[in-house]
Amino acid sequence: MMIKNIKFIWVDGQIVNPADSHITILTHGLHYGSGVFEGIRAYNGNIFKMREHYERFYHSAHTINMNIKYSIDELCTATQKILEINNLKDAYIRPIAFQEADTLRLNAQCKTKVTIAAWPLKNYFAEGKIDQGIKVGFSHLKKPSQDFLPFNTKICGLYVLNQIAKNYYGHKFDDVIMLDWRGYITECSTSNLFMVKNNILLTPIADCFLNGITRQTIITLAKNLNIPCEEKYITPEELLGADEIFITGTAIEIMPIIAIEDINFTTGTITKQITKAYRELCNHTTNIAPSCGQ
Ligand code: PMP
Repeated sequence: MMIKNIKFIWVDGQIVNPADSHITILTHGLHYGSGVFEGIRAYNGNIFKMREHYERFYHSAHTINMNIKYSIDELCTATQKILEINNLKDAYIRPIAFQEADTLRLNAQCKTKVTIAAWPLKNYFAEGKIDQGIKVGFSHLKKPSQDFLPFNTKICGLYVLNQIAKNYYGHKFDDVIMLDWRGYITECSTSNLFMVKNNILLTPIADCFLNGITRQTIITLAKNLNIPCEEKYITPEELLGADEIFITGTAIEIMPIIAIEDINFTTGTITKQITKAYRELCNHTTNIAPSCGQ
């Protein structure tokens, strides 16, 4: 996903040119990852699940004791403004809030800066990839229990772990599947995972990884489409015996997995049915004034 053509960024209520938006080297968030972020999509000018994203933004901030000085409604309004001012219809939106530079004490209560950037995005993967799907490997890293790391958040510092997992294979695979400390399947580096076995949609129980907004949307879509869907603990062996596998996320939407290491999979009918329903939902989303909730 290339960051390009950004004309204006929202920074604490001001609209600024990216070239004029500086932070100091002594920013707390830079040293310790003490920030939280979101990834949101706009389709034809309408922002998909905006309120849910900002609710998660607050939850992430609360988890690291960080205060966000704007209400959800104010952030929704700012997000719409930044789309309009950049003249964007299909876009990826990146809000981030981080601790500033009052002190570098680890448990400091610093001032918080909030910014929202947006740039054009139609498809996350190159054209052909969407039909081809992606190839993944199993990560060598194991996710710890939620008691230790709050993985159901988008706290900046936590993403270093996903980055290490993804870097393990270099460019050999498109992504990695991470297991948890018990050996169960969790998610990929920035997406959730579903498998289909005997026409039943299965997805891991989200007790130590991000319970994605797309994941939750797909569970609801499956119910509406009368596709049986279960959340359960899934072992690597069960996953390797799947009829279909796909991953989900705001940026990537729905992407079939066509190989796990040297085992191949095909994109099946349930993946196609869910993809079609998800695209229809995204393309028919509308902003509900004044707070833009979905
Ligand atoms: N897991 C991780 C680690 C992620 O970063 C993301 C992307 N936000 C997801 C899952 C999917 O979440 P969502 O559907 O809310 O984008």
